[in-house]
Amino acid sequence: MTAVTRVVAPNPGPYTGPGTNTWILDAGSVAAVIDPGPDDHKHLAAINERLGPTTVGVVLVTHSHDDHLPLAEQLAKRHGATVRRYPDLADRDVIRVGNLNVTALHTPGHTGDHISFWLAEDRALFTGDLILGRGSSMVTYPEGDVAAYLRSLARLSELRPRVLFPGHWDPVTNAMAKIEEYRTHRLDREAQVLAEVKRGPGTAEELARRVYGPELGGELMAAAEMTLRAHLKKLVDDGVVKLRTIKGREVYERSG
Ligand SMILES: [Zn+2]
Repeated sequence: MTAVTRVVAPNPGPYTGPGTNTWILDAGSVAAVIDPGPDDHKHLAAINERLGPTTVGVVLVTHSHDDHLPLAEQLAKRHGATVRRYPDLADRDVIRVGNLNVTALHTPGHTGDHISFWLAEDRALFTGDLILGRGSSMVTYPEGDVAAYLRSLARLSELRPRVLFPGHWDPVTNAMAKIEEYRTHRLDREAQVLAEVKRGPGTAEELARRVYGPELGGELMAAAEMTLRAHLKKLVDDGVVKLRTIKGREVYERSG
């Protein structure tokens, strides 16, 4: 088994849980680092302290969000390593570092540039923000794509991983059950949105208020509306919901 250790970035919050997970993989004489994290010199120092005398051979990044990517160049420069991420990494590219072979899997949905990393010999999957250790992943309009997200989950499932190392929260040892939980959650959301459109037409904002209730305030309501828009886009693409502009308002209604 590859030794995997974690340094949690000091960026806890509603979307980051206890903070971003920076994963350090023991590759023999060198290490691979996945998701170096936010631009925070204390976090960089914590990563280097954990590495001790070990040099980083490669810095891998799951996606370009501010809580995953920013330290990549600084960390790589210090160790004379390279940064690898989408689109310089393509689907199924194998990164050889020390005694490890890490396979990149393009798994869009949370973002278009999202990559998961697969350690085949350990059946271990580094899922970034596609699957988290707790709660659910954000798939929000316009960068999120629900159809792509569901396809990415299906791909991960086909690998039959044993353990997931997510971008936030703890590792997941019941990997297959967690993937299924995420799939079901997303499909339940979709069914809920479709049911609401069938109840009566509305704009994305109106539908969000109807689905989530007026008690959801400010920032959370904005996030809920962007999640709902991502689902509406898929339902329109699937042909079950129609988007019409009525007196300058974009109204979603059932199709047929
Ligand atoms: Zn993210």
